[in-house]
Amino acid sequence: MSHNHQEHISPPPFNWTEWYASIGGRKIEIPEVNAYLRKIYDDQYLRFDGPINPVKKTFKNPAEASAVIKSKAMEFGADLVGICEIEPSDIYQGKEIHEKYAIAVAQRMLWSEFQVVPSYDSAIECLRVYYTLGETVIALAAFIRSLGYSCKVEHPIGDSDLLHIPIGLKAGFGELGRHGSIINPSLGPLFRMGSVVTSIEFECDTPIDAGIAEFCDNCKACRLYCPANAIPDHRSPEAGKDHLGNDRYKVDTGKCFPYFGNHYYCSACLPVCVYNHKEWAKDFTGKPTNLFPTVVFEDAPIPSDQVELSLRHEYPRVNRGAEIIVPRKNSINNHTKK
Ligand code: SF4
Ligand code: SF4
Repeated sequence: MSHNHQEHISPPPFNWTEWYASIGGRKIEIPEVNAYLRKIYDDQYLRFDGPINPVKKTFKNPAEASAVIKSKAMEFGADLVGICEIEPSDIYQGKEIHEKYAIAVAQRMLWSEFQVVPSYDSAIECLRVYYTLGETVIALAAFIRSLGYSCKVEHPIGDSDLLHIPIGLKAGFGELGRHGSIINPSLGPLFRMGSVVTSIEFECDTPIDAGIAEFCDNCKACRLYCPANAIPDHRSPEAGKDHLGNDRYKVDTGKCFPYFGNHYYCSACLPVCVYNHKEWAKDFTGKPTNLFPTVVFEDAPIPSDQVELSLRHEYPRVNRGAEIIVPRKNSINNHTKK
């Protein structure tokens, strides 16, 4: 199956290099982050392809194929794995995917690295997981080729052909939170996603309804603690529906992106998320952690409205001109500080 999805609704691919140039260049200079970026682009990208076994393995049925691939993905380091059929709206505008299915994989990020956000530690943790998850999808792709099937790696770092979020929702990873990220019933929102696309006939997973979207309607923790004031108070009927038929919450990426581009990839909305009383935040690393992270607020940069249309996702202009409900200076929340 081939999808050329120009005629369907999905955002343009995001060109991070040009986008950073349009806001005055990258501001995050952390040696560990740069080392991960180099390993991803100079090493992992070269390992996306490889020889396909001329002898094709046959599976008894699609259920067996799914079980085999999922168990391998877990063996290669996935914390979540699910399979769904790719629809045109899952593909960035102007890109093409010829495979029928996406095998979505996720790896959790460690709560212990998000005790202060935005921070040096949280930025490194984001990149660490992009790298390790990259290894997982590369290993899974090599395994699929060893079974005699072609496939393609969709790396988690953000310049893939596929939109990770709709794929993750269809693969049953969780529900869409107010902060625009998927919340998993047990892992919460502190994880990253990547995928491998292939045309082996699979049995697919289904989206879940665990009451998370409903919980978000009564919780605004991420909205209160977003340093850029980019998270909405309400769902937007014009923003389309989530997989449960709810109007989506639309984060103002025109405000979020300049903030995280200048502040260690921000990520504050993820560790402040209170879903499921933070049961998901247990790291089991032995490192002492707080119940709630310290959020550092700095003045938000000017929204990036002037960025050329083809270089950005939709900017819905959330909370523009609205009263800022969180103090912007000296405002680290310290009610749970040790
Ligand atoms: S990453 Fe930061 S700026 Fe962006 S929505 Fe989350 S909390 Fe707000
Ligand atoms: S902090 Fe609350 S409102 Fe925001 S995504 Fe998490 S559960 Fe939903």
